[in-house]
Amino acid sequence: MPQDGEKKKMTLVVPAYNEESALPLFYQEAERVGKQLTGVEIEYLFVDDGSSDKTMDVIRGLHEKDERIHYVSFSRNFGKEAAIYAGLENAAGDYVAIMDADLQDPPSLLPEMLKALEQEGYDCVGSRRVTRKGEPPIRSFFARMFYRIMNKISSADIVDGARDFQLMNRKVVDAILSMGEYNRFSKGIFGWVGFKKKWLEYENVERAAGETKWSFWKLLLYALDGIVAFSTAPLVLASVLGMLFCIAAFIAILFIIIRTLIFGDPTSGWPSMVCIIMLVSGVQLLCIGILGQYLAKTYLETKNRPKYLVEEQYPEKKKTQEAKG
Ligand code: UDP
Ligand code: MG
Repeated sequence: MPQDGEKKKMTLVVPAYNEESALPLFYQEAERVGKQLTGVEIEYLFVDDGSSDKTMDVIRGLHEKDERIHYVSFSRNFGKEAAIYAGLENAAGDYVAIMDADLQDPPSLLPEMLKALEQEGYDCVGSRRVTRKGEPPIRSFFARMFYRIMNKISSADIVDGARDFQLMNRKVVDAILSMGEYNRFSKGIFGWVGFKKKWLEYENVERAAGETKWSFWKLLLYALDGIVAFSTAPLVLASVLGMLFCIAAFIAILFIIIRTLIFGDPTSGWPSMVCIIMLVSGVQLLCIGILGQYLAKTYLETKNRPKYLVEEQYPEKKKTQEAKG
């Protein structure tokens, strides 16, 4: 129950990269749902991730009509993860929801999410799609495999089909912001912070307008990033492989010595030698590669670069004025 007119604020954080056609639809739908949300006031925070189309004009247009539309615009495309971080950092609401601009995260779930936070005592409500209809089958297959492997090798709880779409309270937002890593993998971060989390399930919805920003290749790299960020299992794999090969080599040496002693030494078998050398050097390169991945991430992390750069934002950030003084 809202107490004497003092309404809580809910910020909808929307990362948008080339979403000129989807944003107006999103706003319309969110407004429709927003009217059903009694007890909270909605506020929008669009994060323009360096779009090259008219996304920013659309946002400015909406902002002129509606003061509750806030925005942050990046100097270039920094990726969805950076956009989410910027959104959380600049969101003023007591509750914050992260939502895609393409309506694949249905705003119609918001009332139920809010209820879970306000009445059922949860800190965070996540959403997961239980079907992947409308998605290329090969993409679904790899996604499933990724979740299966990831859950085996990482302590972060990463749910299959989980979306970035979630509603959370201040406590959770602050926890996520306290994880200031540069290589961000939100699905892992959300799982890692814990708190009382409820899952809502829904059927996959296809994009309302525009097209997906993720190629298969981009997704694959993203999955690898996720593994490196939330698991050190590949390093263990490298060590185990090394050990196995040592043992195999040892056995082979014994075998050859004994065979030579018993049967003499016919000089044959160079093709098998070539195969062994190729295999072993391949495994070595793989292991060095794995090491390299972790080293590269550490390298980027120690540079401590900003996660995003702002070109323009509303409302203006007060900090910049303090920093000048
Ligand atoms: N997005 C972004 N920066 C990017 C790529 C995507 O902010 O570099 C946003 C995009 O505008 C959308 C959301 O992330 O709001 C999800 O992207 P998309 O719908 O293309 O991904 P899919 O749903 O196909 O996985
Ligand atoms: Mg989408």
